[in-house]
Amino acid sequence: MAKLYFRYGAMNSGKSTALLQAAFNYEERGHSVLLAKPAVDTKGDRDIVSRLGVVREVDFVIAPDDGVREVFERHRALAAAESGRDTSCLLVDEAQFLTSEQADDLLRIALIEGIPVLAYGIRTDFQTVAFPGSRRLLEIAHSLEELKTICRCGRKAIFNGRTIDGRFVFDGDQVAIDGEAVTYESLCGVCYLEESGGVLNGRH
Ligand SMILES: [Zn+2]
Repeated sequence: MAKLYFRYGAMNSGKSTALLQAAFNYEERGHSVLLAKPAVDTKGDRDIVSRLGVVREVDFVIAPDDGVREVFERHRALAAAESGRDTSCLLVDEAQFLTSEQADDLLRIALIEGIPVLAYGIRTDFQTVAFPGSRRLLEIAHSLEELKTICRCGRKAIFNGRTIDGRFVFDGDQVAIDGEAVTYESLCGVCYLEESGGVLNGRH
């Protein structure tokens, strides 16, 4: 039986690097894979960008109202016509930006189509609240794996602090892609509470 895997972590925990490595491992053994990511992530457009410098274009982008199963089937057929090989695995980057329904589709792809799905994403937003895609994946994935990274203090980072012009902020929209003004720092719980003055999820 094919399974749905969710590999999650804080920002900068190497999720895109791990995804690209997993794709490489499949292909090295002669298997075909499809790579996808939600359209809401504007960082790098159609590219999966690893912090180690590896860049690779996705096979398809998932729009907010797309049925992932239909889009996957379409691209699976296109790829098979081109290469003569069926898809062995679907890899999804930035899976936190999927809707809850789209995360359900990933489970259907694994269970009904029999294709393993590896989804990578950030667990929680800058207010320590789960992203919709991540919440659903934590509920339904067969396998959960935490990708770890380190806080500036050396403890394991579990939260994502948002900074604007170098200052931590704890109010704002859930999605603000990092760029010129907005950046993120992976923090452990202790450092997060120090910066927020004890606030979690907008509350003391
Ligand atoms: Zn810390």
